[in-house]
Amino acid sequence: MKVNTNFDKMVPSYLFAEIARRVSAYQAQHPDQELIRLGIGDVTLPLPAAAVEAMKKGAEDLAHKETFKGYPDYEGYAFLREAISGYYRSFGAEVSADEIFVSDGAKSDCGNIGDIFSPENRVLVTDPVYPVYVDSNLMAGREIVYAPCTRDNGFLAMPDEAQQADLIYLCSPNNPTGAAYTRAQLQAWVDYANRQGAVLLYDSAYEAFITEDLPRSIFEIPGARTCAIEFCSLSKTAGFTGTRCGYTVIPKELERDEHNLYRLWYRRQATKFNGVSWPVQCAAAAVFTPEGQRQIRENIAYYQENARLIADMLTACGVYFTGGKNSPYIWLQCPGNMDSWRFFDELLTKAQVVGTPGAGFGKNGEGYFRLTSFGSREKTAEAVERFRRMLS
Ligand code: PLP
Repeated sequence: MKVNTNFDKMVPSYLFAEIARRVSAYQAQHPDQELIRLGIGDVTLPLPAAAVEAMKKGAEDLAHKETFKGYPDYEGYAFLREAISGYYRSFGAEVSADEIFVSDGAKSDCGNIGDIFSPENRVLVTDPVYPVYVDSNLMAGREIVYAPCTRDNGFLAMPDEAQQADLIYLCSPNNPTGAAYTRAQLQAWVDYANRQGAVLLYDSAYEAFITEDLPRSIFEIPGARTCAIEFCSLSKTAGFTGTRCGYTVIPKELERDEHNLYRLWYRRQATKFNGVSWPVQCAAAAVFTPEGQRQIRENIAYYQENARLIADMLTACGVYFTGGKNSPYIWLQCPGNMDSWRFFDELLTKAQVVGTPGAGFGKNGEGYFRLTSFGSREKTAEAVERFRRMLS
């Protein structure tokens, strides 16, 4: 027998293991010092009360013969898809309930979508990049090309007509850079994808963090329905990182290579996925009620205020950064032209603050560093003070 040797093409994922190794070595030598972790990509606030109540009620339904639920629909219950469709409508994107697939999160869908495309397709990703797009396509044997994101383009790569691509992953607001595309920029990507006959795989996992007048969905952009698939998630929006629920939108008219992509994905999901549990779909639907929306807005505002504290300090210290405004991530240029790991060590040993070296997200991440706003207010404020003292 043979294994899938495409796995050998992946770069060993040592980023978080190396962070853990350096942090525990430091802690072993300095057991009395309190570390503050601003590297985490997980939320810390609990689920909104509306989601918890709905989940409890959903669990109670399963306890009684009359209300028991077995296998859910492959694409998710209609009441949840209607709620998601209404949410899209609230910011001006027309997505009908029967174009939505409910899933166990955006990570699986971003990776699994490759099942419906040929391994011969060429994939375009940005650099730096959320590693799932790269690794899932390497596993499938696809060729990957990179669109560089640098300070010169504000970490928002734009299409290059000379570069041919079949699948294009875009993430806005971006992980790790926090940068978010404008309407005009996304229009350029949509036009490019339509011209090339490519498919845009648009990850909007952080759309709920947008505060400025920027698109929250690719389907706000004219022409997107003939070239785009969108992945979204309740993980960061509503604290569902452990609860698991996301959704993927495929317009009914999206066709490539004489095949309808909605139908291919439906077939893929029906074959390999048996849906999201009843209590979780009930909880997810509660997020889209007025009460649920009010509660998640409070939590997001809490993280946004953390991001503002970090961003204001960096601005005052004259450090270049992206993100923070429309995103829970702040992507800063390492002061004094330090490389990412050198700055990691400085911040750890001089300020006892842990972040994520940008080099772990791609070649263009070297010299940059990611901080997140998902910590507590007290710890974030303390980290900001320590950071400020270190830089002054
Ligand atoms: N997409 C991006 C850009 C992310 O940063 C993350 C999580 O960190 C995900 C998708 C995964 O979301 P989920 O928890 O829904 O799988």
